[in-house]
Amino acid sequence: MNPTFLGFAVLLCSLAHSIAGQTHSELEGQFALTGGTIYTSPSESPIANGVVVIRDGKIAAVGRSGSVLIPSGLATLDCSGLTVTAGFWNSHVHFFERKWADAENISALELAGQLQAMLTRYGFTSVFDLGSPWENTRWIRERIESGEIPGPRIRSTGEALIGEGWLPPEKVLSALGFMLFPMPEVVDADGALTASKKLLDSGSDGLKLFAAAPAPPFPILPDEVIRTAVDEAHRRNKPVFAHPTNPDGLLAAVKGGVDIIAHTTPQSGPWDEAIIVAMLEAKVALIPTLKIWQYQLRHDRASLGDLSARTSTGQLRAWTASGGEVLFGTDVGGMDDYDPSDEYALMAKAGMTFPQILASLTTTPAEKFGESGQVGRITPGLAGDLVVLNGDPLHDVRALADVRYTFRNGKLIYQASL
Ligand SMILES: [Zn+2]
Repeated sequence: MNPTFLGFAVLLCSLAHSIAGQTHSELEGQFALTGGTIYTSPSESPIANGVVVIRDGKIAAVGRSGSVLIPSGLATLDCSGLTVTAGFWNSHVHFFERKWADAENISALELAGQLQAMLTRYGFTSVFDLGSPWENTRWIRERIESGEIPGPRIRSTGEALIGEGWLPPEKVLSALGFMLFPMPEVVDADGALTASKKLLDSGSDGLKLFAAAPAPPFPILPDEVIRTAVDEAHRRNKPVFAHPTNPDGLLAAVKGGVDIIAHTTPQSGPWDEAIIVAMLEAKVALIPTLKIWQYQLRHDRASLGDLSARTSTGQLRAWTASGGEVLFGTDVGGMDDYDPSDEYALMAKAGMTFPQILASLTTTPAEKFGESGQVGRITPGLAGDLVVLNGDPLHDVRALADVRYTFRNGKLIYQASL
């Protein structure tokens, strides 16, 4: 049996017996985590020997052991020696590897195993998909939301807007393991309006556009195209993400009013003061995606990878030193190595502290996407989205990837095998 299937089968079986002898149905939405170190938010000191009470899928109480009443008969899970945080966001993922095709008909076991391998085993309870066949991605979301399979809260831009002829050849996409699907090619304001309306009318949660072509000579989308797409999305209070490719694309996106820059640009050299100031004035957020540059250069000389890492971490360092907003994101799906450990380590190398990295995973995306009243912190009234870590990421940031349990809406959606 595929280890992923086996892992999920074990999860399904063990959920019924794992927590203090309670059955799965008794645990759903009603339990308490005890004894762990709790980071309620990035800006608050951790609670040692803390308690989180979950009732009806929501956080009912949090505090130091002894100060929080645990209702008698409530199931408890001992988290002594473990760390508890709010559920994580990955704000740059893709559901376009061939494994996701025909999502309506993938077996529940296999689909759940795939979601676990890419996302929930790393604590991601909310994700933003930045480009995939929208009808297909919507099936994944519906099967999760119906309760059929465990998985994260999915937001998606649907297919990305792209310039004419910018999509890589089909044989390249096939070799990368991606589905072949049309993306709306936009060349003028009329085309941008039509494509944006179609996506947003069909329920996409935002728009993604390639501000510059991904291949030489890197033509830029016309200003009117970017501005039209942005205006249509903002009219509906939806965010716009841009793939920058290079500083010219980045500045075109910023000038056009996009909300989120979806990558650093390591091929371009350092970002100068003018770029940083333009980004700050436009109040964009940055998704660094540092690991994928190393992944893409894995067959090249180490010195090239080192140069790329120095450049991209330097860009992130300049951005965070200026007070810029960061959203955690890895571009998984575009990369089949799903482990976020290296991303955390590279963010730390760029000078980000553990609270800053935790903010990029929790409070910053919740605020950016208008969901801070539902998720992002461990505070009464918010959803029971929790991650339980084996170590303390304050001492080693890679511990953020070493997940023991993931809960969404107070339901256990991932448990590490011990
Ligand atoms: Zn991407």
